[in-house]
Amino acid sequence: MRKRLTKKEKGSVLEILSNLYPNPKTELNWNSEYELLVAVMLSAQTTDVAVNKVTAALFPLANTPEAMIQLTQAEVESHVRRIGLFRNKTKNLLAMSHLLIERHEGCVPNTREELEALPGVGRKTANVVLSNAFEIPAIAVDTHVFRVSNRIGLAQATNVRKTEEDLMKVIPKSDWKDAHHWIIYHGRRVCMARKPDCANCPLSGEKLCLAHLNKFQ
Ligand code: SF4
Repeated sequence: MRKRLTKKEKGSVLEILSNLYPNPKTELNWNSEYELLVAVMLSAQTTDVAVNKVTAALFPLANTPEAMIQLTQAEVESHVRRIGLFRNKTKNLLAMSHLLIERHEGCVPNTREELEALPGVGRKTANVVLSNAFEIPAIAVDTHVFRVSNRIGLAQATNVRKTEEDLMKVIPKSDWKDAHHWIIYHGRRVCMARKPDCANCPLSGEKLCLAHLNKFQ
């Protein structure tokens, strides 16, 4: 039984994923730092497609914190109710918007500490905003990144924080943002949670996936 991939093998994995998914970007629709923050906050436990449908109706009404707080909780809920946890997400969106106005002159801050101090914003959301809106290197570990990177052996961790640390060690900083997307894309298109398509995964053919090498299927 293989216990780990070598450094060289991990490098080969990243090269294959980068070739499979060139020019990656978030599949959420957004046109400003505030829109990205709102979209990522709405995306917990739902799909980007569902979030895009919600924001397509919400952003024309409110795509700034000033406009958002003009809406009542019920008005915001009427737009986001089709996605999970909508009451809590609405509450956080409104509280976050108030805080942006009070503390940051209505702008989204660009430090982890300030982002994580906002209601409903955890480390993953902060990392997505830092890397995508501000080009500050960070690796956001969501459910796909956690599952796929640990299956392949890029990380060997039992929680998201340790997975992030493992990935930061193996991936060059200049690739952190793109690698997050490569791994998410792979998790959505090939290495799905319940039925990974190992037969059509180039990592299985190249013997570069620890789970497959150890007869994951
Ligand atoms: S070989 Fe299978 S388990 Fe490994 S990354 Fe590919 S699809 Fe996922």
